[in-house]
Amino acid sequence: MADAMNADEQAALMGQNKESEPAGISFKSFLEQIPPDTTVVLNDLERNTTGNYLKVPDLQLYCEACEGDRMFQATDSLSASSDWQPRFLKFLCRNCGTRIYRFSILLKALRDVPMGQAMKFAQIPAFGPQTPARLLRLVQPDRELLLQGRRSEVRGLGIGAFAYYRRVVENQRNRIIQNIAKAVKVVGSTPEIDQLFEDALGQYQFSKSIEMLKNVIPQALLINGENPLTLLHSALSNGLHDPEMTDQHCLELAQSIRIVLTELAERVAAVVKDDQELVKAINVLKRTPRSSKPALADAASRESEAETLANRDDLGQMCEAEPEESSERTRAPKPPTPVN
Ligand SMILES: [Zn+2]
Repeated sequence: MADAMNADEQAALMGQNKESEPAGISFKSFLEQIPPDTTVVLNDLERNTTGNYLKVPDLQLYCEACEGDRMFQATDSLSASSDWQPRFLKFLCRNCGTRIYRFSILLKALRDVPMGQAMKFAQIPAFGPQTPARLLRLVQPDRELLLQGRRSEVRGLGIGAFAYYRRVVENQRNRIIQNIAKAVKVVGSTPEIDQLFEDALGQYQFSKSIEMLKNVIPQALLINGENPLTLLHSALSNGLHDPEMTDQHCLELAQSIRIVLTELAERVAAVVKDDQELVKAINVLKRTPRSSKPALADAASRESEAETLANRDDLGQMCEAEPEESSERTRAPKPPTPVN
């Protein structure tokens, strides 16, 4: 009975594409790229030699700890069934061995051909582009609200995403200003500028803080030449009750807020890191006796080790002759639509 059903299903699954490519997608693509609640045909469900288990592919997913795409390996075997069965899958980052993805899926695997069907119930971390770790650190106390905003944004829920991001920026505006102050100290501050930041942090109104700081935001933090605080404030200036704030417009504003916050987090980190690398390089040179070859080799090796660590920590932000200027040109997003 089951075999007859399988034959029918097999014919149905393969029917339209008998003479071309097999229908469906790979198991790997399903886990990596398909959102929850979508049923798909799988075309590469291979069983092991006993036929009782399915081969589970490695997945390429964003690792929050490694701060980039990494390979994830399944930690458990996956038993095969020709009936629909709920399955839990767990994958561990091969690189750091600390971050985990979990999937809850419904799966059935045909018996005689490497095909089947699957549907995803849920996954953790949530499906969709991952939120950069630096952005999460920038608004750390409201990390969960930011992630709720991201989930809403991924699902196209504009009003929801906007409301979450708005709450995050309003709650964390002092933390954002403190991060800017940290970058300002690195590029060169004065007691007067430090005091200005102190005073801005004490303001009740965000607009007042922005006005006070408008002339002291360093070039390296400007986004397409615009003050990031002004961009954030303009995106937040309309209330949700405004008739202009349609779901679609809210979604555009939410995306703009997230892009500006991400860019700001990246730029602050780049400025601070450049300074730390400079200090480290100077310290290495200071410790190096002028005519000692072994010591020179030792310093070079320490420097190379530091570079390797930095590279591993943050690919792509260094190795440029002028990181601030070139990164501005290549990474700056469009500013958000101003709201009047
Ligand atoms: Zn990792």
